[in-house]
Amino acid sequence: MLRLVRTGAEGEGSCADIMEIRRPDDLVDIANLGLTLAEAKRLLAGVQREIVAAQAREHADRRPTCPHCSGACRVKDYRDHAVATLFGQVTVRLPRFRCAACGGIEAGLDWPSHCRSTPELDRLQAHLSALMTYRTAADALGQMFPVDAGKHHETLRRHTLKVGEALGECATIRPVTAASAVVVTLDSTFIRSCGDGERHLEVRVGNVETQSDGRQVFGAVAKADTDIRALIRRNLDAVGRTRNTALTAFTDGCPGLRGILADAGVTTRPMLDWFHIAMRLQHLKQFANGLSDDDPERAAAKTVIVAEVERLHWRIWNGKAKDAQVSIDRIRAVMHHFRGEPDGRRSIAPSRKLWTALQALDHYLTGQSASLVNYAERHRAGLQVGTAITEGTANFLVNRRMNKSQQMRWSRRGADLLLQVRCAVYNGTLGSGFGQRFQPANDPYPPMTIAA
Ligand SMILES: [Zn+2]
Repeated sequence: MLRLVRTGAEGEGSCADIMEIRRPDDLVDIANLGLTLAEAKRLLAGVQREIVAAQAREHADRRPTCPHCSGACRVKDYRDHAVATLFGQVTVRLPRFRCAACGGIEAGLDWPSHCRSTPELDRLQAHLSALMTYRTAADALGQMFPVDAGKHHETLRRHTLKVGEALGECATIRPVTAASAVVVTLDSTFIRSCGDGERHLEVRVGNVETQSDGRQVFGAVAKADTDIRALIRRNLDAVGRTRNTALTAFTDGCPGLRGILADAGVTTRPMLDWFHIAMRLQHLKQFANGLSDDDPERAAAKTVIVAEVERLHWRIWNGKAKDAQVSIDRIRAVMHHFRGEPDGRRSIAPSRKLWTALQALDHYLTGQSASLVNYAERHRAGLQVGTAITEGTANFLVNRRMNKSQQMRWSRRGADLLLQVRCAVYNGTLGSGFGQRFQPANDPYPPMTIAA
């Protein structure tokens, strides 16, 4: 039997029986070792109920002074108030006080109005929802904690969006030390919309990085309430940007993003993020290696193409993007050997994919020529060549959670607020409200995958 005993200055006081625990008294079966999850949940819920009941009794004994006339208050009546907590739904017996002098009613609580759950439960729901779907988060929470009320996925969604809204109102804390250099990356991606008007919503994401403090990520859905320009400024402030900070910017080359950066005070011309080029080259390499070599002519052509793709990579990496055209032309010159290559049962022929990817890369390089730099030289000098997030900020921040399946559709506001929570989780700024901070889920030391 588990009994909760109240102790105080006067020694032991009242006690309450929580539950009876019956476990086998031998260890023949490993499954019998210690408490089961079901027992632990009942235990937590039982302890929670007793603690809340004791707190309510203490609260009723306290008798606040009247805020209007400073008169003495007496208990007028009690109301039962249901609150969802991480350790079960509790019914709090809340006293209402009446001032003996002026008759004013006072509750003696600082709770937010219509409060139906504890902030800790709300924040944990938001934290889990930032990492997995609302449905999975609700399920995970129910598996581990004796949460009985507020575990419906719609409730999780509502609480998460509320937390997201509150995050937008938080003040920026500037660090004590100024950052001498900050790297800003801005990128964009799309998620499916559930609205009637548009099929897709544009999401802008980015990160700011300093040499000492790692990284802060941020993001906002276009045309939602969160202003991406203000967000960039806030994030720059949060990592210690001053007037003397050297700013370096990377984008995927989209002119819209360049404009946003300029509006946010990043006036240096952004460079093309090596990550985006490396991705395209990676695809090109895959297609080249997948080419058929079933006759000597094709085999010879494939050898030329594989070598030229390699050279293309080297040229762009070394800032010789103008010479990239030579490689592209050489590949095009031997592509006719693969004419008529049949498509696979489930896929398009590698030669056709290669042709399309090559056209796209050619177009990309031509359009972005002014934003290309000598990446090799920067890398040798210990400077960044793009985002340090290995899979790119958009994948890392958005696609992993919000583009997982074809079925996921988003409202502009819902996606925007969830993204605020997701960023806070990765930045480690989603506090629990009890002075403790969650560990940032954002790895400050990612493995470098510079494909050079
Ligand atoms: Zn009064």
